[in-house]
Amino acid sequence: MPSLHVKKGDRVMVIAGGDRGRTGRVLRVFPKEQRALVEGIRVVKKHRRPDRARGIRGGIVPIEAPIHVSNLMVVCPECSRPTRVGHRRLEDGTKVRVCKRCTGVLDREWTK
Ligand SMILES: [Zn+2]
Repeated sequence: MPSLHVKKGDRVMVIAGGDRGRTGRVLRVFPKEQRALVEGIRVVKKHRRPDRARGIRGGIVPIEAPIHVSNLMVVCPECSRPTRVGHRRLEDGTKVRVCKRCTGVLDREWTK
């Protein structure tokens, strides 16, 4: 399975297409398709049929469509800028993704 430079929970910026310049959080990745689902990005309107038994009302529902990861850049939690991703091995042997701009570690929770 090919691995992606973006991971679930990352904050990413769209660098191409209609949502260019917008940021959002990665909800899900699809490594095989090289695509990711990003919160608030590439929202399409899905027409849904009402399903009374499951309590679903019909109508037009906005949902995210997967976007190709080549259109995404990870936003660094350290310097808050979109960056290319490097790799580093920590002293304890864990591999982490790092920011190519500030060398900050990308694999951590956003606190801002
Ligand atoms: Zn950085």
